[in-house]
Amino acid sequence: MKELKHSAVKLLVVHCVACKPSRPFSVENLIACGEAKYGQCSYHYYVRTNGDIIPLLPESVQGVHARHFNYCSLGIVYEGGLNEKGESADTRTPAQKAALWSLLKELTEEYPDARIVGHNELPHVAKACPCFSCASEYFALQPENRV
Ligand SMILES: [Zn+2]
Repeated sequence: MKELKHSAVKLLVVHCVACKPSRPFSVENLIACGEAKYGQCSYHYYVRTNGDIIPLLPESVQGVHARHFNYCSLGIVYEGGLNEKGESADTRTPAQKAALWSLLKELTEEYPDARIVGHNELPHVAKACPCFSCASEYFALQPENRV
């Protein structure tokens, strides 16, 4: 795995795992998926529907979650992102919303220059991931708005 220097981290990229609420996606599945596709786990943190925050990769190594931006970002993924019809949807539970907020707040304290973005806000990403607007939901946590 490639090294990720603390000073290089400029983005906190939020993803959904793209599973239905009725089909829990285990930590083992998530890790196996990354290993099969990329030879390593893709993300740094996994936020389960019950609000559990599971650390996956150490912050000192690069993930494989955001093409062209892995060298300067951490990847945070929540369980869900599809409705029962299989369409992109914000399926976050209240516990997940709270956990995402506290995790991102902690990370912004650790990386004061880092901006929170949804995967779909990165250039040339034609995906709905993470199925909600990080720009508006995390407005108060962005570098220019922190107090
Ligand atoms: Zn994504």
